Amino acid sequence: MKDSFGREIKYARISITDLCNLRCKYCMPEEGITKKDCSEILKIEDFIKIAKALVDLGIDKIRITGGEPLVRKGVITLVRQIGAIEGLKTFAITTNGILLPKYAEELYKAGITSVNISLDTLVPEKYKDITRGGNLSDALAGIEKSLELGFDKVKINVVLIQDFNDDEIEDFVRLTEQKPIDVRFIELMPFKGQHELALGKYLPGDVVLEKVPELRRIDDEDPSSPARYYKLEGALGRVGLINPLSHKFCDRCNRLRITADGFILSCLHSRKEIDLRGSLDEPEKLKQLIIKAVNEKPLSHKIENGELMDRDMVNIGG
Ligand code: SAM
Ligand code: SF4
Repeated sequence: MKDSFGREIKYARISITDLCNLRCKYCMPEEGITKKDCSEILKIEDFIKIAKALVDLGIDKIRITGGEPLVRKGVITLVRQIGAIEGLKTFAITTNGILLPKYAEELYKAGITSVNISLDTLVPEKYKDITRGGNLSDALAGIEKSLELGFDKVKINVVLIQDFNDDEIEDFVRLTEQKPIDVRFIELMPFKGQHELALGKYLPGDVVLEKVPELRRIDDEDPSSPARYYKLEGALGRVGLINPLSHKFCDRCNRLRITADGFILSCLHSRKEIDLRGSLDEPEKLKQLIIKAVNEKPLSHKIENGELMDRDMVNIGG
């Protein structure tokens, strides 16, 4: 599928729940989200219908996300069924890692090829603070388990937060020296409930290159990736910079997003959503709605003009 600006759309992110076992300060309000009635959240079989329609239309990469996808009941069944869809080349998950020691092996067997784990600090007290109660050791155990299993890619996502983790940038970069792991720094984005925190704590990705000048730019393995990659000499892993604000990557964006309540969004920051719920049992109609979303995909986000989503990040899945 090509959008109206000629971008080839190959990648879909499916949020399978808006619930989470953590409460990261930049992602969720302290009180948590208003729990949606289960009838508002899609069933496992609905996600599979959407995934099949997406792959039929040429999507070859799917990422499962949340909320926290591993708290969703039936996640393994869902992953097994999506993993079996012919034509899917890359099947990934983004998780906070807390439940990976329990589920990583089943995810691996079900065909997940790539695991992204969110981790914003390597200091236990700071982890407890930013996640409002999480244990760093659980997330680290999840990362170790994923490395042991040998997924094609294991990546750590670090959201850059001023006066919180700028003093740990070098420690994160050093993790790539000994382990085949990609550490990706993401610029903090403003979202509905959290935009004040985000605006006050934003740090441009280039700060990583200032703190670790020995990082060298390397060629792009995947030109559509939002990350630009760097490496320390002799390191096993890479360092990625994802800079949606300081260096917009909308011109190479190839993705669609499905929310847990059954809407399709063609841009993370767009207020335009298309409701898929009434068409889940009609594959052709479902495909027409997906094509409509692709045709309406905006050229770029407008966060710099103060345009904010009506949803929290936890509702969209990153
Ligand atoms: N619970 C999973 C996790 O934490 O990886 C998946 C969902 S989470 C919403 C997906 C990604 O969005 C995480 O890497 C998280 O750090 C990132 N994220 C959440 N809020 C953000 C914000 N305001 N700015 C930048 N990234 C954000
Ligand atoms: Fe949960 Fe992930 Fe959001 Fe943290 S970033 S609150 S782990 S959904």
